[in-house]
Amino acid sequence: MRDVCIVGGGVAGLAASIFTARAGLDTLVVDGGESILARNASLENYPGFPDGVDARRYLQLSREQARTAGAEFELGRVTRAEPVDETDLEAGFRLETEGGEPLEARRVIAASWSDSDYLVPLDVGRIQRGSKHFVNVDGAGRTAVDGVYAAGRLAEEPHQAIVAAGHGAKVGLAAVHDSDANFYHDWVTPEGYFTGRGREVPPGCEEIDDDERLERDEAARARMLEAFSEPVDEEPTMHPSVSE
Ligand SMILES: Cc1cc2nc3c(=O)[nH]c(=O)nc-3n(C[C@H](O)[C@H](O)[C@H](O)COP(=O)(O)OP(=O)(O)OC[C@H]3O[C@@H](n4cnc5c(N)ncnc54)[C@H](O)[C@@H]3O)c2cc1C
Repeated sequence: MRDVCIVGGGVAGLAASIFTARAGLDTLVVDGGESILARNASLENYPGFPDGVDARRYLQLSREQARTAGAEFELGRVTRAEPVDETDLEAGFRLETEGGEPLEARRVIAASWSDSDYLVPLDVGRIQRGSKHFVNVDGAGRTAVDGVYAAGRLAEEPHQAIVAAGHGAKVGLAAVHDSDANFYHDWVTPEGYFTGRGREVPPGCEEIDDDERLERDEAARARMLEAFSEPVDEEPTMHPSVSE
């Protein structure tokens, strides 16, 4: 059984997976298709990219970051989620996927903006507005069912990528805090930041010396230069109702 299964590998799901995987939780992302952000022509309001960034490149790099953190991916649409044991939610959840084997996870993060029908058997508290469904959550993304969370647009966050990413991160951290992972903050600090004050390096944090910092910086710059050396070989996806 996985520690966390994240349904939806779009903006919020990827951000959540980076945090759960970096905290050491066995994390599986199940994605049934494409992030709605793939329809964007130029992502120009995401902090850190002063002249914008190709949305498909942003998604590719986020997926790469999640894999580097240890998250695993499976392609497939989740069709049903139910408790493994109705009388004990701590026993986790079983997820059925279209054409795949059922999956089991202690915690489920629903980050699947375009679809949440699979949550119906769990009675998490969905709200319908027009043709859209949202999921009711508390301030940390917890639904009415212990162990089930919702993140991003599905949790009725504003329809902006940075908000979905931030909310995904926050919900991922809630799942970490609700688990038995020993965790303080996910921080990388200069050597001595904690130990120089006679403190242990807290769980989830790391102290690195200057050589290590420069090595990491060099590797990060080389990767970004490579990633941005060519235009992305994918077009934005048009709205399905626009005719060719
Ligand atoms: C045309 C367009 C342009 C936009 N431009 C901007 C912009 O310039 N700036 C900005 O900030 N925001 C922009 N946005 C908004 C931004 O894309 C969204 O707010 C953001 O992607 C929401 O993130 P999310 O993770 O909640 O959903 P998504 O990124 O859509 O991720 C949801 C994921 O869940 C998967 N999924 C759905 N159902 C299932 C299932 N049953 N099983 C498994 N997986 C499933 C989907 O395949 C998808 O990968 C734009 C949106 C559109 C449509």
